[in-house]
Amino acid sequence: MQPRKPSIVVVGGGVTGAAIARELTRYRVSVTVVEREDDLARGASGACGGVIHSGFDPAPGTLKASLNVIGNSLYPKLADELGFAYRRTGTLILAFDPDGVTRLEEIRGRAARNGVELETWTRDRVIALEPNANPGVLQAVFAPSAGAVFPPEVVLALARSAALNGARFELETEVTGIAVNRGAVAGVETTRGFIPADIVVNAAGVDAAAVAAAAGDHTFSVRPRKGQQVILDKRYGSIVARHIMTLPTRMGKGIGVAPTVGGNIHLGSTAEDGVEPHDVTTTSAGLDWIFENAKKLVPCIERDWMIASFAGVRAISDTDDFIVRESPAVERLFNVAGIQSPGLSAAPAIASHLVGVMVKAGVPLEPEPGFRAFLDPPIVTSRMSTSEWARLVAGDPSFGRIVCRCEGVTEGEIVRAIEGPLGARSIEGVKRRTRAGMGRCQGGFCGPRVAAILSRRLGVPLWKVRRRGAGSELGVGPAKCCLRGGVGAR
Ligand SMILES: Cc1cc2nc3c(=O)[nH]c(=O)nc-3n(C[C@H](O)[C@H](O)[C@H](O)COP(=O)(O)OP(=O)(O)OC[C@H]3O[C@@H](n4cnc5c(N)ncnc54)[C@H](O)[C@@H]3O)c2cc1C
Repeated sequence: MQPRKPSIVVVGGGVTGAAIARELTRYRVSVTVVEREDDLARGASGACGGVIHSGFDPAPGTLKASLNVIGNSLYPKLADELGFAYRRTGTLILAFDPDGVTRLEEIRGRAARNGVELETWTRDRVIALEPNANPGVLQAVFAPSAGAVFPPEVVLALARSAALNGARFELETEVTGIAVNRGAVAGVETTRGFIPADIVVNAAGVDAAAVAAAAGDHTFSVRPRKGQQVILDKRYGSIVARHIMTLPTRMGKGIGVAPTVGGNIHLGSTAEDGVEPHDVTTTSAGLDWIFENAKKLVPCIERDWMIASFAGVRAISDTDDFIVRESPAVERLFNVAGIQSPGLSAAPAIASHLVGVMVKAGVPLEPEPGFRAFLDPPIVTSRMSTSEWARLVAGDPSFGRIVCRCEGVTEGEIVRAIEGPLGARSIEGVKRRTRAGMGRCQGGFCGPRVAAILSRRLGVPLWKVRRRGAGSELGVGPAKCCLRGGVGAR
């Protein structure tokens, strides 16, 4: 008889939890991810910049530095296996005065110690290759290995892959306590009942210290640092070809102007301490700061190019480094905490590093020979050639009906995004999976149509369709009139 598989509960469905869940399914274990929200990537992972940093910035010798560099190198293969969009943009850091040029020298030294390749660019090279960059630039360094992804797409792909390999996902389930028996974890108390576990992995982001404390582990603390960000209209998506940055500061990497995989430009982020852990508000002062500083890099940027603004909260540990270790207080509780930026870039490496930590701690991890690395490629009609698209429409006409005009998203793609246990349950969920509502009109046109499709596919009245998460239902009761006709009502 086969020995019983160790049962592992992962708390948190951000990029850290999803990457860990996928990595653990390479072994003969039973994995359950418990997430408080009604969708994955609703914490920092859904509200971050999407830059896959090269790793020149973190202090040499830290976990942040080594896991950033390894994570960066894993992304191209991961994108290939999971079918998410990934683009190598490189990062260009500009210096505008002699002081800045000296700082570039420090960055070169730091990059060399972290094992990151950097090129030195003259002013003329910068202006030749990035003609919209501030002509006042004196010198720059370029990190070719940096890239860009759409973070929710990465998290969902990791989670789908984990689910394909047997992981279970419990959404809208909050961990409220951790049962400890004779000094070792025994399971998690949740808002939907008790889940027994031999091992608990705490990947709860800004709430990781609270989750650890629920088990009696008070060995670290986490504080929030908010970052406000801006998305510019796609029409200006080609103002830069590379991720352009100011010099890093004590508070973080400085401000960046970054091309996104969706064809927009991302500006950000602020770095605000002393905020509430879940404060994701944007402020006019924050946006003023972003535009003022982004214009120092690329002077042509105009404020009315903005189509969306949002904020996320970084989780900063008391050591300012990633914490990836077995709890010194409770056996078989593994804390993966303080995963601030560059956590998205580092996530695949954090997951494999954790496996090493677990093995060292004596967790029996037998390889699972049936692990499937590849996901079926997603259907994205806007990335197809006309003939490919025509063949698809011939088989299913719903792929010929455009619902989101700005992003060119079809009814067929939206229906697919709603299917399955990890499918979208809200308008926001559809947006993150398909880009419907991410364009210039921000869902003004397609929002009601997406709501009608959700209503039909989920079997709920239109007024009960959620915009984003519990409590965001579109109405408070049945309305006398509802959408008629149009693609969504069919
Ligand atoms: C403004 C900003 C910009 C950034 N830009 C970049 C970038 O460009 N590149 C980069 O590499 N990194 C970037 N980062 C950092 C990156 O976003 C984070 O490091 C990463 O997303 C952390 O992922 P996580 O899964 O650890 O945390 P999260 O994504 O916050 O996930 C934690 C999850 O745990 C859940 N949870 C919490 N408590 C409980 C509970 N009790 N029960 C159940 N579930 C619970 C939460 O709901 C949440 O979904 C940025 C961060 C911010 C805020």
